[in-house]
Amino acid sequence: MDKRYDVIVVGAGNAGLVAAATTAKNGLKTLLLEKHNLPGGCATSFVRGRFEFEPSLHELASVGTEKAPDTVYKIFSELGAKVDWRYEHNMFRAIVRGENGYDVTMQSGIENFCDSMERAVPGCRASVRALFDLVKKNNEALAYITKMKGKPNGLVMVLKHGDFMRVASHSVEEVMIALGMPEKARNIICTYWGYLGVPTDELNAMHFLNMLNAYVIDGAAMPYLRSHELSLALCKVIQDAGGQICYNSEVTEFLYNDEGAACGVVANGQKLYAKEIISNVIPHNVFNMSDPEKIPETDMKLANAREFGISVATVYLGLDRSMEELGIKDYTVFVMGDANPRKQYENRETDGIYIVNCLNNVIPDSSPEGTCTMFFTIPVFGSDLPKDLKPEGYKNYKNGIAKKYIEDYEKLSGISIMPYIEEISVATPVTFARYLGTPEGTIYGYKLSGWDNLLSRISNEKNEYTIPGLSFCGGHAFRGDGYSSAYVTGDTVGKRIVKKIKGGN
Ligand SMILES: Cc1cc2nc3c(=O)[nH]c(=O)nc-3n(C[C@H](O)[C@H](O)[C@H](O)COP(=O)(O)OP(=O)(O)OC[C@H]3O[C@@H](n4cnc5c(N)ncnc54)[C@H](O)[C@@H]3O)c2cc1C
Repeated sequence: MDKRYDVIVVGAGNAGLVAAATTAKNGLKTLLLEKHNLPGGCATSFVRGRFEFEPSLHELASVGTEKAPDTVYKIFSELGAKVDWRYEHNMFRAIVRGENGYDVTMQSGIENFCDSMERAVPGCRASVRALFDLVKKNNEALAYITKMKGKPNGLVMVLKHGDFMRVASHSVEEVMIALGMPEKARNIICTYWGYLGVPTDELNAMHFLNMLNAYVIDGAAMPYLRSHELSLALCKVIQDAGGQICYNSEVTEFLYNDEGAACGVVANGQKLYAKEIISNVIPHNVFNMSDPEKIPETDMKLANAREFGISVATVYLGLDRSMEELGIKDYTVFVMGDANPRKQYENRETDGIYIVNCLNNVIPDSSPEGTCTMFFTIPVFGSDLPKDLKPEGYKNYKNGIAKKYIEDYEKLSGISIMPYIEEISVATPVTFARYLGTPEGTIYGYKLSGWDNLLSRISNEKNEYTIPGLSFCGGHAFRGDGYSSAYVTGDTVGKRIVKKIKGGN
């Protein structure tokens, strides 16, 4: 291994891959180090028997199409990374149990979505429309802010983007109530909170509305060959551009020079140096792998002030019947014990919320003929794990989760699943902690709520972590969690480093 690079990227997750592809493609000597023997982090696949499972991706937002490309499409096209995209136009089916329960299916496209909402909650159309009008205005405001080189003009913000100013610091619930939206309509729209891991009375409205808008306008997108396809497409860009990817190369130490700038890392016992280090690894871990003397007090305090985001338990099933034979008709079903997102969050250990996906609905041949796969996702914080959980009890714990949710879904949907299970795999926050290396197995980095919401992260980003030569990208960074956000941070940081090293635009 050559020991001096322009850029070393640590971690080949979504953001690390895009960052490395960007710097390599722009002629910087780039080394990407990944602790596993394959790329992607969450964006990968795994095989059990004759099934290749998608481990993480339910829905990718902000993709768009060739004719109407959205952010992710543009990032991949600009890099020349080719992906065979497939789309789902039913956004989700939401089933709420109990007296005030409901069973509704929402479609993508603003008009279709408003129609589905009006069918579910007669009379709500005007308030739902108003919500999308707000999203449009917010997007205009964000476009203005992003275009500005310095601080946005206060007068322009107030006079032209007043609605943005009014909404920006409020929660999703507060904004929906202000628009006069009936409670049931609010609850249905808020079904998606699970994807951000923060209930909607504490989640920033702008953040949620941007995600909702992305799914409503573009629908959900999935790569044909599981998310591994995305990661491999990006690896090809890196390697075609002369970048180097080293697998089985866990970084164990970050190195700093006498001036306190990051200048290298240690992997497999070797010291490797670069002008710039980009970390796809969460700051907590980076600081733990650094000489504490080199970490400015404010950086350490910032990391420690943040809360870890949510993790999940997942159950992956390979079934020896087709989805038609089993009677499965939906790609995404949210099952909830109560209509209210706060209660779903608080009751997550009993009957809060879980998601059931069957990829064959979108990609019929994603499993062998006559079979299908199912994917259950249950929100769980690492801190929710039983305090007395021991290695010898872990198998039982996992089996208990699988049994509980499969049986519940069988009872609710009338679909028989148990007799047809050919392969089963269960993951918990323990799995994600081990695989991704994240504290408490967080899959969403830091929780985006309160003072640490998306808007404040974006606006403070440049003042955040201050170590020269060290940049962060990933679900833990300034755009929050999720595939599209991780790609955006990889793209932004990658371009910033290109500009810094090479100059120009
Ligand atoms: C079950 C599940 C379902 C999800 N569903 C969705 C969804 O439907 N839509 C969506 O948008 N998002 C979803 N997400 C979230 C999304 O996957 C993540 O937010 C995103 O992939 C994070 O990307 P990242 O760039 O931060 O990298 P990560 O995926 O966190 O990868 C980090 C990489 O760094 C490597 N690494 C760690 N430590 C070291 C080290 N010391 N040295 C070298 N390498 C190291 C890891 O091995 C890994 O490859 C889901 C996640 C999970 C787990």
